[in-house]
Amino acid sequence: MNRLFANLPTTIFEVMSSLAREKQAVNLGQGFPDDPGPEDVRRKAADAVLNGYNQYPSMMGLPELRGAIAEHYGRFHGVKIDAATETMVTSGATEAIAGAILATVEPGDEVVLFQPTYDAYLPLVERAGGVARFVTLRPPRWTFTEADLDAVFNERTRAVIFNNPLNPSGIVYERAQVELLARYCARFNAIAICDEVWEHVIFDGRPHVSMLSIPSMRERTIKIGSAGKIFSLTGWKVGLVVAAPDIMRVIAKSHQFLTFTTPPNLQVAVAYGLGKDEDYFARMKAGFQRSRDRFCEGLVACGFPVIASDGTYFVNVDIGAIGETDDVAFCRRLVEEHGVAAIPVSAFYAENHVRTVVRFCFAKNDATLDAGLERLRGAIRR
Ligand code: GLN
Repeated sequence: MNRLFANLPTTIFEVMSSLAREKQAVNLGQGFPDDPGPEDVRRKAADAVLNGYNQYPSMMGLPELRGAIAEHYGRFHGVKIDAATETMVTSGATEAIAGAILATVEPGDEVVLFQPTYDAYLPLVERAGGVARFVTLRPPRWTFTEADLDAVFNERTRAVIFNNPLNPSGIVYERAQVELLARYCARFNAIAICDEVWEHVIFDGRPHVSMLSIPSMRERTIKIGSAGKIFSLTGWKVGLVVAAPDIMRVIAKSHQFLTFTTPPNLQVAVAYGLGKDEDYFARMKAGFQRSRDRFCEGLVACGFPVIASDGTYFVNVDIGAIGETDDVAFCRRLVEEHGVAAIPVSAFYAENHVRTVVRFCFAKNDATLDAGLERLRGAIRR
């Protein structure tokens, strides 16, 4: 068997969700909302299943969805996007990430990753023959400096994978950080694979600065979005890709033999949803922000040192400050003895691990959050 996959552990999300089921724990691990998602969008999909076309849609995506992607990101990022040559629909953002890596990386090429890295990136880079170079981010602000980038970028750098807002940290990078990374991409002729799936899940009025909106990056950015995150429908697996024509032409070739296409009924519904006005996005943000605040207050009341979350469905706690040294052991104890599933953030490090951060998902209804908090009350050893 292929050694890379044979030796890979099962993804931490699946491990913790299975444990949560087994222990009947409150699952604040894997990130998915309790909210069923906007009813009008779900009705569009249902109607398309019953009355629409259910055969293979076009490989690059339904024209109406490709048009909606160009319009949506044109509107939010202030760029002009040609639907016919610069957009593509994939079966989830993870497929888009795999396709982007396969399309850009050749054996021996270096790829810059920021750790904590979303857990799919490294195995996909290595499977493509790429060599990962890590920038290590540390709590509580998870920022990177020029010196960090100097240490990893060189003439062998083919690509960088940049997740902004960053899961699992919940940080939203500001323009200065995005521009700093852009300068290195331009200097070393590297492509930026930008996982921006959390672009709309941002709080406290912070803006999302897409790499696509940085003029020098327009021709070297592969922007990846996710209908699942935009509409709180994580099981839908509809990914949205934007890249300049020369790049898109090659990603299309890797996409054609990964999944080829994506369910047409979901595409119809996402095309409709992307046209929603500011109000939908504002209400969605406000709802999650309210849940974040409620949960964080509860965590603080339990004695957990909370690390600020500016976006995503997640908030982290610093268990080092309560005398813990092993996040994996801590999470195991949480689920087994207290009935709450969380995610140990060391799972997202490949080297120089940070082992004192634990991630909770707050994208839940009040009853779930309160049940989780109730169980967390006894979890800190004194
Ligand atoms: N994105 C989700 C999270 O971070 C997990 C997705 C998955 O389970 N593959 O929790």
